[in-house]
Amino acid sequence: MGMGSDMYRQQILDHYKNPRNYGELEEPTFTHVGENPMCGDEIRMDVRLEDDGETIEYVAFKGDGCAISQASASMLSSELQGKTLEELQEMDRDDVVDMLGVDISPMRIKCAVLAEKVAQDGAEIYRGELEKEKTTTED
Ligand code: ZN
Repeated sequence: MGMGSDMYRQQILDHYKNPRNYGELEEPTFTHVGENPMCGDEIRMDVRLEDDGETIEYVAFKGDGCAISQASASMLSSELQGKTLEELQEMDRDDVVDMLGVDISPMRIKCAVLAEKVAQDGAEIYRGELEKEKTTTED
């Protein structure tokens, strides 16, 4: 492991200890929750859209779980601001791994993608394209 990877590890720990956009929104456009039963990670995401109903204005999250899952949610909450729902739907696990900046073992990939799945399912439910009470990484 080189220096670069070390820096990213520090960044993950920083997001874990000092999560960005942590909390709840007063008037979210939609809210969704999810869990990764393998590890015990839980994420709740509140998303507020601009008046166009397409651009993400603000994201807040609350959660509990391992450093990877919570850091991923913290980074994603910042990353999504200003993006459209379409851009959110186009994200995949590679984008999440790039965002985290470290190699994620197959065991931990579900921790890494939980926040992204919660945001994507929340957006689909909001658009009436999906019916689901809770996202789980086991789906
Ligand atoms: Zn985890």
